[in-house]
Amino acid sequence: MKFTIYGNPVEHSKSPQMHNAGFEELNFDGFYTKTLLEDGNNLKENFLKNNIQGANITVPHKEKAFMQADEIVGIASKIGAVNTYINENGKIKAYNTDAPGFMRAIEEFGDIKDVLLLGAGGTAKAISVALRDKNIDVTVVNRSINKKDFFENLNCKFYDYNGIEKVIETNNESLKYDLIINSTSAGLKDKNYPAPLNILTKLIINSKNAIDCIYGKMTPFLQEASKNGLKYKDGEDMLLYQGIIAFELFTNVNADKKVVKVMRDGLNNNCK
Ligand code: NDP
Repeated sequence: MKFTIYGNPVEHSKSPQMHNAGFEELNFDGFYTKTLLEDGNNLKENFLKNNIQGANITVPHKEKAFMQADEIVGIASKIGAVNTYINENGKIKAYNTDAPGFMRAIEEFGDIKDVLLLGAGGTAKAISVALRDKNIDVTVVNRSINKKDFFENLNCKFYDYNGIEKVIETNNESLKYDLIINSTSAGLKDKNYPAPLNILTKLIINSKNAIDCIYGKMTPFLQEASKNGLKYKDGEDMLLYQGIIAFELFTNVNADKKVVKVMRDGLNNNCK
């Protein structure tokens, strides 16, 4: 059976090495490749024409994937984006595993009631829907204001930098968070902080735990969290668990500890 990840770019993706390691462990008859897809409108056609059994969809095609699916399952309908396709007799069932994958990644932080979410892009949308679904309070801080409607419709608070600075100055709102999340791309290919440092520091010192969606590096955000004594982690578990939930959909097998380990090793292995 054929599986693939669609994206543009897609060369950097570690999904094939993670899923193929899992298939091998289960002796599952599957092979997972990468597919560079320039025009997201061709996703459904490509998926069906090539007889793909299951796929992951990454940047920038998750919204277009949502629109072309025959059936949207679960929390994805609130997010408006999907990252997993399953071929069910020529019909496409679509899921968002980023959201539950993120929730699994933060389990080790214990009980979370209040979250400060930096960023308002596609990842922030999936995360905020998953958090609100569990009745967790979410405050979003983003560089620009134009995406605020989506978050306010979920009953999240939303501030740009000026807005959150006023909240900090007037001190008329509780600024205590169980978790602070970096879902911006600041720190991915640069040394930027996800917010001006004076604001970021105030938010970090009022938080207990920190997670960066960026994986495989100690970003400036994580360095600041570490310096201030927060418990922290990068985005590796988030990436792993979205993959494991997709893998369970691909194979109809519950991934036990052994499979999770093999897939984590696959993720960290440099071979394809
Ligand atoms: P988007 O392009 O949809 O959103 C990017 C967000 O980052 C926007 O809110 C943008 O602000 C903000 N931003 C970008 N640059 C800066 C900066 N220099 N300072 C402050 N804010 C900035 O990206 P995604 O949501 O798809 O991805 C976000 C991050 O999450 C990426 O680093 C990606 O690698 C990571 N990721 C990790 C996953 C995992 O499994 N671990 C899965 C998916 C993503 P504005 O709105 O003002 O432009």
